[in-house]
Amino acid sequence: DTSLAARDPEIAAAIAQELGRQRHEIELIASENIVSRAVLEAQGSVMTNKYAEGYPGKRYYGGCQFVDIAETLAIERAKRLFGCGFANVQPNSGSQANQGVYTALLQPGDTILGMSLDAGGHLTHGAKPNQSGKWFNAVQYGVRRQDSLLDYDQVAQLAEQHRPKAIIAGGSAIPRVIDFARMREIADSVGAYLIVDMAHFAGLVAAGLYPSPFPHAHVATTTTHKTLRGPRGGMILTNDEDIAKKVNAAIFPGIQGGPLMHVIAAKAVAFGEALEPSFKDYQRQVVTNAQALADELMKGGLDIVTGGTDTHLMLVDLRPKGVKGNATEQALGRAHITCNKNGVPFDPEKPTVTSGVRLGSPAATTRGFGEAEFRQVGSWIIEVVDGLKATDGQGDPTVEAKVKAEVEALCQRFPIYPGL
Ligand code: PLP
Repeated sequence: DTSLAARDPEIAAAIAQELGRQRHEIELIASENIVSRAVLEAQGSVMTNKYAEGYPGKRYYGGCQFVDIAETLAIERAKRLFGCGFANVQPNSGSQANQGVYTALLQPGDTILGMSLDAGGHLTHGAKPNQSGKWFNAVQYGVRRQDSLLDYDQVAQLAEQHRPKAIIAGGSAIPRVIDFARMREIADSVGAYLIVDMAHFAGLVAAGLYPSPFPHAHVATTTTHKTLRGPRGGMILTNDEDIAKKVNAAIFPGIQGGPLMHVIAAKAVAFGEALEPSFKDYQRQVVTNAQALADELMKGGLDIVTGGTDTHLMLVDLRPKGVKGNATEQALGRAHITCNKNGVPFDPEKPTVTSGVRLGSPAATTRGFGEAEFRQVGSWIIEVVDGLKATDGQGDPTVEAKVKAEVEALCQRFPIYPGL
């Protein structure tokens, strides 16, 4: 018996438990999704065995004729999906997509201007502990104190003052649409590249529900596993032939060796799914559901940063209830609702504590939840948070057990991976 269960029962059991967790918990982590069986199958395929350094038709290894089909399909579908002339589908992650673009366009010591982590940016946009913050002179912009919206005036002022070589737009906790035209105008005023990192909202862009980074961005990066609902990975897009050449050289041989051909095959499958009309319906439901959840939470007495969301995610400010992000993440976890603590703009708490949680709708929407289910989830969150408040942050075991049972019943009605 060569099955995984027979060969490695410990790993087989961990995978089975993870499947059970996904089936029985409501996933509200904004950066996660539930891929199709077809994506899983492609990723778990024999293409994992193949070395294919280089690009389709120009490989450093023999026997690449079939992986070339997969990569070419991934590239062509990505270009169609985002209406652009070039795609590199090889980055192993969103972080490596960004690192690839920096390698293509910048030198160590250059100045970059990105959104700070605590305002909603990503580590790879110049945060101190990240390579982007160590190798570059990283200047950071944020959001406005009065309304927590991206501070374009500050971006313009910092650009003028520091003359960055690149400006990065995008982040991990930005609930509102970014004005790419404005960002490009600022970039042009100082001769900087505009890099749009659309990792979070790429699925919405593909569906036409969020403005495209193009034609404003010189280059765009994304992950493939968030709203886009593909395998874990990254991608780089551009319309500029010169940048395209530099990006290809930066990914290989610049920062990566053999590409993950099984993941690239799975990216092709996911992009094919995203080109289907039903993907647009899905993304529309993602936004409707996020807005319903935000509305329900506000009715229950919580604040939503910026007063709502245009996208798949929201930042919940817990301070009206006097509870912390870390305790809330744990209490919701006990009730089988999964999310992550997240700082709110100008958060007085440490990043390990925080005053907020970040919630997103992509995964639960994939399993079939509509507005009614998201409103129900919102009322459960209020119950759990009120339980925390009433017990001085300890959590009310009776409330949490009751919600957990109700969550279980709802999950049963929306099964995932039947037969797996
Ligand atoms: N860029 C943004 C805006 C992200 O939110 C993330 C992931 O959280 C990344 C890049 C990095 O992606 P990965 O986790 O695949 O390295």
